[in-house]
Amino acid sequence: MAKAILKKGRATPVIRRHPWVFSGAIQRIEGDPEDGEVIEVYDAGGNWLARGYLNRRSQIAVRLLTWLEDEGIDGAFWRRRLERAVSARRALAEDPATTAYRLVHAESDYLPGLIVDRYGDWLVLQFLTLGVDQRRAEIVQLLADLVAPLAIYERSDVGVRKKEGLEPRAGLLWGDEPPDQIEILENGHRFLVNVREGHKTGFYLDQRENRARLTTLCNARGGRIDVLDLFAYTGAFGVYAAAAGASEITSVDTSGPALDLARANHALNGLGRAGGPHSATIIDGQPPAGSGSTDTEYVSGNAFALLRTFRAEKRHFDVIVLDPPKFASTRREVESGSRAYKDINLLAFQILRPGGLLFTFSCSGRVSADLFQKIVFGALADTDREAQIIGHLAQSADHPVALTFPEGRYLKGLICRVW
Ligand code: SAH
Repeated sequence: MAKAILKKGRATPVIRRHPWVFSGAIQRIEGDPEDGEVIEVYDAGGNWLARGYLNRRSQIAVRLLTWLEDEGIDGAFWRRRLERAVSARRALAEDPATTAYRLVHAESDYLPGLIVDRYGDWLVLQFLTLGVDQRRAEIVQLLADLVAPLAIYERSDVGVRKKEGLEPRAGLLWGDEPPDQIEILENGHRFLVNVREGHKTGFYLDQRENRARLTTLCNARGGRIDVLDLFAYTGAFGVYAAAAGASEITSVDTSGPALDLARANHALNGLGRAGGPHSATIIDGQPPAGSGSTDTEYVSGNAFALLRTFRAEKRHFDVIVLDPPKFASTRREVESGSRAYKDINLLAFQILRPGGLLFTFSCSGRVSADLFQKIVFGALADTDREAQIIGHLAQSADHPVALTFPEGRYLKGLICRVW
């Protein structure tokens, strides 16, 4: 098998099982392997270290798959890795209140470049690297055998593939075409997901546990609760808040189609009062908590501008959710991204009622949890408010972070009580 020989002094991360070998760490490649091929990694002294797939077109030249010399990268290897990821989600699989979650979280499930999300009977995949893209047929067949879904759909229409020399790709991989909208359950709430055109693979599954925190805190409040869900996408945080008895939900997003689904999702749960009469879901003869008692408003627009408008109008809220898109994708964007995070958090602090709650997030991997907290502090310092952190949030447990791969922690959030 072909070999990559590392430069002197560059073996430590590999020995510590970090899954990436950067091109700059490689002294030479022997044996003329094709990109995508599995190669052996040796240190400068000729000691075998690990085995992984190569892509010279990427700055991450090798993604490591095993550190055991006798573990071959064959069909049984991929099956074992997939089985382990699936078995780690058994508790979720057995929870009737949740039918959508991440089954495979790439590097942190020891399957670099592969994302597998489950939406009920449908699987949606992303092949983010050449190494897994080339093995797509084998991976799809293994998942079909292991999970027995109705269909497997691909949503590899993402920019990061360019770094691997790959074009975006999307479409049916196995089974029957999924419907335009798949209905899922998350903690007992119903959501419609468009896996063909939705963001990521269709839904922000990584926020499931954080949405549950919103439920707990709304339940604990009592009284009138006016909620501002900024960057609402298909309204998931708002559905949880409404079910927990919120009086009014204002959902803001720039995407019209996302807000249409948000409206549909609120109605599906029998929660919204806007948009005319609707039939609330009756369970055991009782309307669900909060049924039909929440006023809903959907605002298609820029969250930055709207926050300024609300401030000027002296419009106040009891709970604000700030879940913006990635503001810093590269190291160079960290500074401008930090300013954007500071801006929205500052405005949110200013329009919260005393005792109000701010759920604030960053999904930029480049912005560490520590930096994010400093940015939120910087925002507070420019107001005359006080705030206490009452919760540190992260991506849900089906999006694990391998201890050997701290880069896997991308979503971080804070719950602040604001005075
Ligand atoms: N909170 C959502 C996920 C948010 S993803 C959930 O739980 O499902 C980020 C969202 O921000 C996307 O829906 C995107 O359309 C929206 N967005 C991006 N820039 C925006 C802006 N400037 N103002 C308002 N929404 C924006």
